[in-house]
Amino acid sequence: MKTKYFHITSPDQEEDIRAAAAILRAGGLAGIPTETVYGLGANGLDGAAVGRIFQAKGRPQDNPLILHIPEAEWLRRYCKNIPPAAWRLAERFWPGPLTMILQRKVNVPNAVTCGLDTVGVRCPDHPVTLAIIRAAGVPVAAPSGNLSGRPSPTCARHMEEDMDGKIDAIVDGGPCGVGVESTIVDLTAPVPRLLRPGGLPLEDLRAVLGEVAVDRAVLSPLDPGEKPRAPGMKYRHYAPRAPVTVVSGEGRRTARYIRRNLGDHTGVICFEEYRDQFPGCQVRSIGSAQDRGEQARRVFDALRSFDGTDVTAIFAQCPGDGGLGLAVANRLKKAAGFQVVELGEGTP
Ligand code: AMP
Ligand code: MG
Repeated sequence: MKTKYFHITSPDQEEDIRAAAAILRAGGLAGIPTETVYGLGANGLDGAAVGRIFQAKGRPQDNPLILHIPEAEWLRRYCKNIPPAAWRLAERFWPGPLTMILQRKVNVPNAVTCGLDTVGVRCPDHPVTLAIIRAAGVPVAAPSGNLSGRPSPTCARHMEEDMDGKIDAIVDGGPCGVGVESTIVDLTAPVPRLLRPGGLPLEDLRAVLGEVAVDRAVLSPLDPGEKPRAPGMKYRHYAPRAPVTVVSGEGRRTARYIRRNLGDHTGVICFEEYRDQFPGCQVRSIGSAQDRGEQARRVFDALRSFDGTDVTAIFAQCPGDGGLGLAVANRLKKAAGFQVVELGEGTP
């Protein structure tokens, strides 16, 4: 299949918007920009089209997709028993990097939810994609646009690396402003539950909701056979080809640990302050240790950039859990298959 490329920088490019929307309406697949990561979109009411997303990505059949809508009002079309908390969150954080899990109506195809009686819904904060969804007139089902298991795409070039020739179109709408996927909160539980940390910090959710439980799968690997509430959390994810070891703790200490354990062909993901400390290595800075927004924007590109190099092992410095740090640390730890070295106080 020949993939058609669009470069759309503004929702005013009406002809291109209509053409991309027509591809989705006709059952095609399109890579679409969002503020979090690039998505692989299809008409969310067309089960056959949604099925092709799973094929193109090689995505496991039990990992449901998120429906993207252009405004909160559309929740009523696809969800039932919507709690007041959902409206409060939508008012405060949409469009934005927050996915809510709600009870679904029967018009949502099983292909989207993988047969669950709930559905994840989000309104993305990207003017081009909002215009495409509006023009298509249907919700767009979209997981991240990477091949299953690889780091998520944060620019059109990443989409092209994984999907060129496999899908109908890729819409280049510039690099993603957030860089990690949406925060997922389950509102069908008695207490709202964080299923995946993402572009909206947990602290912001708690400021609106009060108590929010954190699913175990966010912080630690699952026990063999354990079933996570977000099915996707059970898969190794975000991983470059070389194995990753996350080194967690104070920056100078983690830099020293990495330096002592360097071998030949080692890659290092580090904070900007430490980038000169790993001579002879392929080093990728993800921004200042203080700047978690920058770390979120750069983490997937850093992971991806080692593929096609001779790097055979990767060490990564890791932020703490506050703000966007929870999402960045989660992506690094999942890329590492939870292979984490914790350097607490008192370690040399
Ligand atoms: P992706 O967009 O590739 O990041 O994948 C979507 C994520 O949303 C996966 O981790 C899914 O497991 C999760 N998800 C989607 N729908 C549901 C749902 N109804 N309940 C729980 N998790 C969901
Ligand atoms: Mg994904």
